Amino acid sequence: MKFLSKFIFILFCTSILSVAQIFGQKQFTVVLDAGHGGHDAGAIGSYMREKNINLAVVKRLGSLISQNHPDVKVVYTRRSDVFISLQRRADIANQNHADIFISIHTNATRGRSAFGTETFVLGLAKTKSNLEVAMKENSVITLEDDYKTKYQGFDPNSIDSYIMFEYMQDRYLDKSLQLATLIENQFKRKKRYSRGVKQAGFLVLHKSACPSVLVELGFISNRAEEKYLSTNHGRNELADAIYKAFEIYKQDYDRKSGIIHKPNPEIIKVQQVADDDVVFKIQLFALERILTKNHSAFKGLKDVTYYREGNFYKYTYGESTSFDEIEKIRKEIADKFPDAYIIAFKGNQKITVGEAIKANTK
Ligand SMILES: [Zn+2]
Repeated sequence: MKFLSKFIFILFCTSILSVAQIFGQKQFTVVLDAGHGGHDAGAIGSYMREKNINLAVVKRLGSLISQNHPDVKVVYTRRSDVFISLQRRADIANQNHADIFISIHTNATRGRSAFGTETFVLGLAKTKSNLEVAMKENSVITLEDDYKTKYQGFDPNSIDSYIMFEYMQDRYLDKSLQLATLIENQFKRKKRYSRGVKQAGFLVLHKSACPSVLVELGFISNRAEEKYLSTNHGRNELADAIYKAFEIYKQDYDRKSGIIHKPNPEIIKVQQVADDDVVFKIQLFALERILTKNHSAFKGLKDVTYYREGNFYKYTYGESTSFDEIEKIRKEIADKFPDAYIIAFKGNQKITVGEAIKANTK
């Protein structure tokens, strides 16, 4: 029976593909670009490096898209800590005929006070600070061999090089602006401070021939924001915001291209635990099927996630690196879920609560 249902599921997936192929529709492709990598650390905070934050958020974002939109092709410019040239990042987008390109970065300033998110589209920078962000991000090309030839003499550190963006026609501008605005709106919904949608001359956006945005997740130079960017909570929240923006953008794209989807019940999120961090969660119950978001079984709890073990989908609530905090949450929901109990993960590996407490006190 289990084999049969798996078989039917595979059949179902292949039938989605073949319908798209019959009608000659290209698979919607999103290219996710984690800025920097390898010997290019990007911005450096007091203990975090930009390249790691970018990659962690990109991985979460990619898995949210893949889990919830099996019809979408997700391409990563990098999935590990490796150096990739700006040209190569754009080539990956172009070779895959990307429908959108999302480059993820983390900001830094000399002072510690600046904080908040901002999303850039290609264009001429209207303020000095916007230009400075582009100069900083573009300056990574100087780490590449022969960058002067490769980028036609573009000098990332000379203001003169940026004049070209004034006369450039960007046929993707409207769509890029749409996506950028959706992303910043979703950040606001997560109570992040949004510095807004901005324009500047980013080479990586210039070279990719599709609607493209460059997201600055926050300032690694600001202590509070650096801490937020280092936590699973912060990274999940940021990835989730960009994911929701993607979803709205895609719905609009589908509507305009006449693609009709069967009403798709909103499936709840897969749990996201990244890297080697230890987190505690509360397990509510286990079932052999996936429930839709806001299902009555959750008794009004929001943001329930699940992980899979064997044939079971195990539904969890809350997340904290602190045992005391998760215990507090458990008590708060004990009237609704008296049998719920605390579990622990290290990365995506389930460990015992005892091991987790021990790992945390090291
Ligand atoms: Zn960067």
